[in-house]
Amino acid sequence: MSLKIYNPATEELIKEIPVDNSETLAHKYESLKKGVQEFKKTSVRDRILIMSKFADLLRKNKDHLARVLSDEMGKPYKEALGEVKGAAEKIQFFLQESEAYLQKKKVNHDGGTEEFISYEPLGIVANISAWNYPYLVGVNIFVPALISGNGVFYKPSEYSTLTGIEIEKLLFEAGFPPEIFKLAIGGPEVGEILLSMPLDGYFFTGSYKTGQYIATKVASKLVPVGLELGGKDPLYVTNRVSSIKNVAASAVSGAFYNNGQSCCSVERIYVHEDVYDEFLDNFLKEVSKLKVGQPFDDGITQGAISRKEHLAYLENQIEDALSKGAKLEAGGKTITGPGFFFEPTVLTDVNHQMKVMKDETFGPIIGIQKVSNDAEALSLMNDTDYGLTASVFTSDKARAENLMAELDAGTCYLNCCDRVSGYTPWAGRKNSGLGATLSFHGLYVFTKTKAWHFRQNMQ
Ligand code: NAD
Repeated sequence: MSLKIYNPATEELIKEIPVDNSETLAHKYESLKKGVQEFKKTSVRDRILIMSKFADLLRKNKDHLARVLSDEMGKPYKEALGEVKGAAEKIQFFLQESEAYLQKKKVNHDGGTEEFISYEPLGIVANISAWNYPYLVGVNIFVPALISGNGVFYKPSEYSTLTGIEIEKLLFEAGFPPEIFKLAIGGPEVGEILLSMPLDGYFFTGSYKTGQYIATKVASKLVPVGLELGGKDPLYVTNRVSSIKNVAASAVSGAFYNNGQSCCSVERIYVHEDVYDEFLDNFLKEVSKLKVGQPFDDGITQGAISRKEHLAYLENQIEDALSKGAKLEAGGKTITGPGFFFEPTVLTDVNHQMKVMKDETFGPIIGIQKVSNDAEALSLMNDTDYGLTASVFTSDKARAENLMAELDAGTCYLNCCDRVSGYTPWAGRKNSGLGATLSFHGLYVFTKTKAWHFRQNMQ
């Protein structure tokens, strides 16, 4: 069996590569099993040193890596470059902080007994990954997993496999032994094989549907499961903002960067009625500056939609909204190929009966809804099955903090959106995820704790 990799911007076949099967994966598993026995004896400091070389190699090879990524996934070359550089930056938290967090800690002295906590690796973990930001979402998992001493079975998405192969090459070039990182190449059927193997943890990035399926399928193993899933992230523009023009520019970037194919893209906008007209005017001006085109062309902001079948899904959301009374302010159509392109689309007069305001869009479509006050905005923002991120734009920080405290989302932003930091946990709520990655929370998920009770003398 082989996997055919197509360029979504040209529909040309880039490469055909063999996929894994039960036999090849069993062989890799045996190798991982041996590898982790030695690897867990290495010091955290040594693993950090190797990982910092990996970060250097990302920077050094950024042009080539960005080219491979743009070719197979369709994002603008400039954004691909930004992603590779961003991944090297995001690793910094783990390079700087892991040693301190993973040390054995004395936590209590109870009479003659000293009490400690230590952190041991889980063993061999699966990292089943998505295609939209393969570097940024991959490093959330395999970086802390390796630093904490685990072996990793990394399954890149079938839509970003060449990037997975590049990642493997650079990890080995940095100095990680080949026995502790193995690729599982292929689509869902290869992921399924991983689910049936006796692995020590499953860490998944992708859709709610697949994530829920995986969690259910591996539940009886009683091993840790981490899920980074989709979102329907809201943004609220209050009637007190210092520059509506800047807010509109920020909202357009949040909604359309990476063609909206981001788990934390802005997917719904609510605007206070006092500033609605001015906001919409500025928003549409910004949208008119977006330029769809081939990922390597100068000046383009929107590349290709990565998966052909998603074009029909996007069209369906628009049809549904228009049939229920929405107004089309910009875009609205698939662009004739070759390549899978879609017009940046803005809908107004939307409401929560429409799919575009309820279901994850994962594409360049945004709905904008007018609200009369903060209470209405808050209620609509929380009216969702998802809970990844939510943004409030206002120059009144106290007002924002009150709203943010009530938002049921794992990440809340004031006057910004669509951003991720290595220092704070990335932890979707409801259908957006389970557990956390990034920050010290996202380090500890790859460990099992051991409690030590040392009594010095028997009385
Ligand atoms: P997907 O669920 O289709 O696939 C994700 C991965 O799961 C792929 O590697 C795929 O081959 C594998 N897979 C599919 N079926 C499987 C099965 N039955 N068993 C085992 N593995 C299986 O998702 P996608 O299209 O790659 O990614 C898009 C989704 O990911 C969006 O919903 C997006 O919001 C979400 N996402 C979330 C985050 C986050 O940090 N929360 C980040 C990126 C993407």
